[in-house]
Amino acid sequence: MIDFNQELEHLNSHQLAAVVYNDGPLRIIAGAGSGKTRVITMKIAYLVNNLNIPSWRILALTFTNKAAKEMRDRVEVILGNDQRINPFIATFHSFCYRVLREDGEVIGLKNPFSIIDTADQRTLIRRTIKDLGIDQKNYPRAENAALEMIETWKTNFMDAAEAQKTSVDEQEKDFSLVYQVYEKYLQENNYVDFNDLQLKTYQLFTTDEQTRQKWADRFDHVLVDEFQDTNELQFSLIKMLRKTNPGLTVVGDPDQTIYTWRGARVEIILDFEKNFPKAKTIILDRNYRSTKQILDLANDFIDNNFNREKKDIYTDVTGVTVTVHEVTTQNSEAEYVAKTIKKLMKEKQYEYSDFFVLYRMNAWSREFEHVFDNNHLPYQLIGGIKFRDRKVIKDAVAYLKAVALNDNISVERILRATPKIGEVTINKLINYATVNDMSIFTLLTVHDQEAAQISKHLIGISDLLSKGQAKFQENLPVDELLRFLLTQSGYESRVKTLAKNDEDIENLNAFYDQLKHFHDQFDPQFYNEANQTLAFLQEEALGSDDESGVANKVTLLTIHAAKGLENKVVFVTGNSSGIFPSNRTIGNPAALEEERRAMYVGMTRAKERLYLTYVNGEYSYITNRSLEPSRFIKELNPDLYELEQPLSLPLTNAYSRTFSQSDNKSRTNSQVENSNSDLLKVGDVIEHVMFGQGVVVKIVNNNQYQIAFNNPSYGIKIIPINSVAIKKVV
Ligand code: ATP
Ligand code: MG
Repeated sequence: MIDFNQELEHLNSHQLAAVVYNDGPLRIIAGAGSGKTRVITMKIAYLVNNLNIPSWRILALTFTNKAAKEMRDRVEVILGNDQRINPFIATFHSFCYRVLREDGEVIGLKNPFSIIDTADQRTLIRRTIKDLGIDQKNYPRAENAALEMIETWKTNFMDAAEAQKTSVDEQEKDFSLVYQVYEKYLQENNYVDFNDLQLKTYQLFTTDEQTRQKWADRFDHVLVDEFQDTNELQFSLIKMLRKTNPGLTVVGDPDQTIYTWRGARVEIILDFEKNFPKAKTIILDRNYRSTKQILDLANDFIDNNFNREKKDIYTDVTGVTVTVHEVTTQNSEAEYVAKTIKKLMKEKQYEYSDFFVLYRMNAWSREFEHVFDNNHLPYQLIGGIKFRDRKVIKDAVAYLKAVALNDNISVERILRATPKIGEVTINKLINYATVNDMSIFTLLTVHDQEAAQISKHLIGISDLLSKGQAKFQENLPVDELLRFLLTQSGYESRVKTLAKNDEDIENLNAFYDQLKHFHDQFDPQFYNEANQTLAFLQEEALGSDDESGVANKVTLLTIHAAKGLENKVVFVTGNSSGIFPSNRTIGNPAALEEERRAMYVGMTRAKERLYLTYVNGEYSYITNRSLEPSRFIKELNPDLYELEQPLSLPLTNAYSRTFSQSDNKSRTNSQVENSNSDLLKVGDVIEHVMFGQGVVVKIVNNNQYQIAFNNPSYGIKIIPINSVAIKKVV
């Protein structure tokens, strides 16, 4: 245990003020790395140590399990790991789980209840849609759509009856019936879903005052980290817990709001005083995490968001310049990261655990896993299943293995992935094949007539396997072989229609990318194998296993999972168009701003070194086009990073301005021309990527345009002359 009072002296005056303030609600608004989480942890220690508040009377809430663990660890360092010192530090969901475990009976829950997982949720919805006789053809991706709608209803506190009453069209009506059956099933089987944890706690607190009072009485102080990502429901819970208690501390950074798609509302932190008129606000303005180079670039970047309040945050610590690195393929991106990690470990004495590799979408981890495996570079994947262990990838590999290796396990797997073929049929097949001493593959292909007698639904798969085998023997490129198998079998279209979110599709497309890359660089001599599908499967099978015994590992994780965390060296990868920001932002300015905040979160995880990488030129199935530097790369201030680019690649016009400028390091005074055209004149009509069309009404100081936008809600705005966001129309 460390000397706590000495620790307090290390805080700056704003932080200290926040720690000792105990006169009512307190809001701390501050940028990344300014010590918000540190203030929370120090405050917990202060309440226990200096104000003698029993630790179990303190509740600290955050958003991810990893962040909660991090906070617990930090508190333990200060207060020591005495079992009796036990503040309740948890995520919202686990706090609610605890409440319901204790008091769920009050609202009819039986204890212990189970939490239904997503796979079962989907099966249930699928079955319900069928049972109710709803014609799926009427609704694209009916199962997902129904689930999403149910989630929305739930988060708006609407039960099935209410949903039914307020439905405006056939689809809503149909789905509200699904909702009703779904709820009934959960209730009968004593299940709750993930959303229910919070909703039922809310229900419990609003219907039973005594229980609410009990929980509110239990805590003297409630502290909430990452408050910018709170939704209405969570805020209601906080308010209900606070009714009797004076202590409430919330901390957040509006620029890091990245969960609006789950209902987070940044207004909750911005308008905090509306709910708590006597609340005190403290601003922290010094960053302790990152070097000046990292901070300047991140701050300049987030300033591209229009919908934000500017805040200043500074640091005295200088370090090395941020590196932006261009590569031509996904594989070379992973190779570059692996090489850089090794180099830094050798030259600068870093350890594996000093590195984060971040990406926007889970599917992007694939090449890193592959290359790190090959390089014997230990890594751990946070919050995700290893690429090759994901269900769609296992299914896809099973199709390849079935036609290449004819093994029973793979054939059984694809049979299970085929509609209308149930366990009864599969068992009959296995029996028949065993009795006649042949593999299921042989039964299905050579003796297809006999198989068809077991079930006529097997005819299609017999045909698929025979054709697939022929193509395999012709040594068709491995990505084309898979494409054939997955389209012919209908698997791919099923993934597209049934997937709960886009992740399955992204993973599948990432796998196609991997196969195509394998095909492009395939050298039969190297593998001592003429057939490339066999060579690929062989490589897959030999891929090294998880080295779970090694604690010192590089961490691969999504930006969302990295919120609140930090590390010495950070790579933000996949900054290519359609990947980060994702295609879902097209035509959606608010979504684009949220992606920009995600990028800001990614960059500000770095303490000492930051690398931003992007792929330029390689075709990707994820985006269905060639990857290019994303708009985020183009928005970076070229004075604030160093570009490493393959020399052979010519710069294209679209971003040559940005890059060539980094050579003469003089953005401020130079009369830079617009990337797309010459200087605009007053009266020119332009198109802005976010605000749409507008007219140049004035040129300010030779470096800014004043533009009146057609859309009145944007009005007149000042746009830098060199903004890549504008294009001349007339
Ligand atoms: P984020 O917005 O990313 O969640 P944060 O504001 O919560 O960041 P912290 O994680 O609390 O920031 O702090 C960032 C880093 O700065 C941590 O390593 C922390 O220990 C360190 N730090 C914070 N305050 C001080 C201080 N007064 N003196 C020295 N180091 C500090
Ligand atoms: Mg934090």
